[in-house]
Amino acid sequence: MPADIYARYQRLQNKDVAFICGSDEHGVAITLKAKKEGVTPQEVVDKYHGIIKKSFEDFGISFDNYSRTSATIHHETASEFFKKLYDDGKFVEEITEQLYDEEAQQFLADRFVVGTCPKCGHEEAYGDQCEKCGTSLNATDLIDPKSVISGKTPVFKETKHWFLPLNEYEDFLKDWILINHKKDWKTNVYGQCKSWIDDGLRPRAVTRDLDWGIPVPIEIAKGKVLYVWFDAPIGYISSTKEWAAREGKDWEPYWKDESTKLLHFIGKDNIVFHCIIFPSMLAAEGNYILPNNVPANEFLNLEGNKISTSKNWAVWLHEYLEDFPNQQDVLRYVLTANAPETKDNDFTWADFQARNNNELVAIFGNFINRVMVLTDKYYEGIVPQPAAFSDIDEKTMKELKVYPDVITSSLERYRFREAQAELMNIARLGNKYLADEEPWKTIKTDEKRTKTVMYVALQIASALAILSEPFLPFTSSTLKNMLNVSSNGTDANRDRIENTWNDVSSKSELLKPGHKVNKAELLFSKIEDEQIEAQLNKLKQTKMENTENNKETASAEIASQKETIQYDDFTKLDIRVGTIVEAEKMPKADKLLVLKVDTGIDVRTIVSGIAESFTAEEVIGKKVTVLANLAPRKLRGVESQGMILMTENGDGKLVFVNPDAEGVDNGSTIN
Ligand SMILES: [Zn+2]
Repeated sequence: MPADIYARYQRLQNKDVAFICGSDEHGVAITLKAKKEGVTPQEVVDKYHGIIKKSFEDFGISFDNYSRTSATIHHETASEFFKKLYDDGKFVEEITEQLYDEEAQQFLADRFVVGTCPKCGHEEAYGDQCEKCGTSLNATDLIDPKSVISGKTPVFKETKHWFLPLNEYEDFLKDWILINHKKDWKTNVYGQCKSWIDDGLRPRAVTRDLDWGIPVPIEIAKGKVLYVWFDAPIGYISSTKEWAAREGKDWEPYWKDESTKLLHFIGKDNIVFHCIIFPSMLAAEGNYILPNNVPANEFLNLEGNKISTSKNWAVWLHEYLEDFPNQQDVLRYVLTANAPETKDNDFTWADFQARNNNELVAIFGNFINRVMVLTDKYYEGIVPQPAAFSDIDEKTMKELKVYPDVITSSLERYRFREAQAELMNIARLGNKYLADEEPWKTIKTDEKRTKTVMYVALQIASALAILSEPFLPFTSSTLKNMLNVSSNGTDANRDRIENTWNDVSSKSELLKPGHKVNKAELLFSKIEDEQIEAQLNKLKQTKMENTENNKETASAEIASQKETIQYDDFTKLDIRVGTIVEAEKMPKADKLLVLKVDTGIDVRTIVSGIAESFTAEEVIGKKVTVLANLAPRKLRGVESQGMILMTENGDGKLVFVNPDAEGVDNGSTIN
């Protein structure tokens, strides 16, 4: 959304824009999916590329080119890029020990291996990145790594790879980001970059022992492919080439001319690749410009839970359009209004309904409808000739002319929520003007005044048609049809543009007296409670299915019985009843609570990994089962003296093994 808004706005400023994207098709997840479904990776990417491309089109995402990394032009471009760096001696060639799955007979990197993040302790970090803390990793950094293919612990095996020595680019990155972009980059982006650079960067392998990807274009690397995050960002260049060839343009100035402003619109999990790795590659190549800005967003959750396509916790665009036909702009509007620009944010269906009904219908739609209906009723759709402006007319027109600058200022600082809120303020201005001037009353008493008021209101409607285009392109187009003005610069009528962004400030009038407008059409319609309930039920259903699936896998994964032990072995365990008397979260550890437990013998500290299932407040006062004689050990500097016994339910939530019988005192032993 932010990228599309920005591209559309730049086009309205008559800037030369290449809005480029594509499907990243060499990810390891694709090969895993193909394996699971018994098809080839190419079949997987063909299917999803089609679906994704169509969804973008349906929502009016105005890409100049949407390519894919399995395209020939991309294979060629990425190969040439690697070859240039190789020939220029930019890589370090090294035989190292890499993780190897003996059962699957395959090296493990990237998404083929999970383990504990050495930086934040997240237990499901991938071999190339921890999605929890964003740190970029090498597979060998993971603590307790496990193969995603076999579930086994991998062994080390020697193999030769080519590394981009990121450590040699630290000074370049420091100058470029930490000094030159200190002021203009978003704090969330700048902060992440600073933390990685301050920690020190290490060489990063750009080749892999895999069979899905772009073959490394040198003879001695036969059988190896380029690391997906080496080839994927080069995809922006390939996509530009594909577009330029089609348009009969030269692609190079878009990537090599200093006057080009290169921007990457991404999510926070991609910051490291777009701010550290790709720019280092570009610098190594030597002929390319660097991104001017990377205004990354944080994450958007759905009804309080992380969006997950694999768990179907998502709003699928094609399903949305079946349920809300022709209401693309409602979703666009709500997504921008809630964009996670500075912190993670939540999409809820209740908010979706409220924003549609209370903002789009009640403010924007209501204003336009009144203007159009009254113009039709009083003047048969002809823009009336105004009389002399009153003070309030002057003031209103003056205020209107400020909006292009106000919205521009927000957009140029990548504050899309703020920009869209300002757009809505234009409709508010219009509503207030009509409510104050009451043309439906003056029509009976003062013909001249009514004409002037309707003329001013039509100018406001016209400004809305122009300035809403980046945010609500479908609405803008309908409104332009209603006002009988030619459509925007993104459709086939590029050369018929009548008014554009800056005309709202610079022209004295956007619609001339005598111009005939068309009849009113409905821009937005009320969304009913039943529609929202249907969406919530869909999600509820998903949740139930996921729980069922979990149960199935859980029962399939019931641990087999362990080796037989003697009674004496059991009596060594001192298990007894206790009560949690205090609890607090361990700072900077997502999973750990520091508990004070009354064991009947003493009140002791136990550090427990239950914080993802319980808050500190929830567990205080809880009766629990404690393994009291477990050797003490330090966790994050706090000594834990024992262990609380837990089990897990089908959802993966931890559950206390608790002695709930009345009258059992702390200290009672379990045997
Ligand atoms: Zn981490």
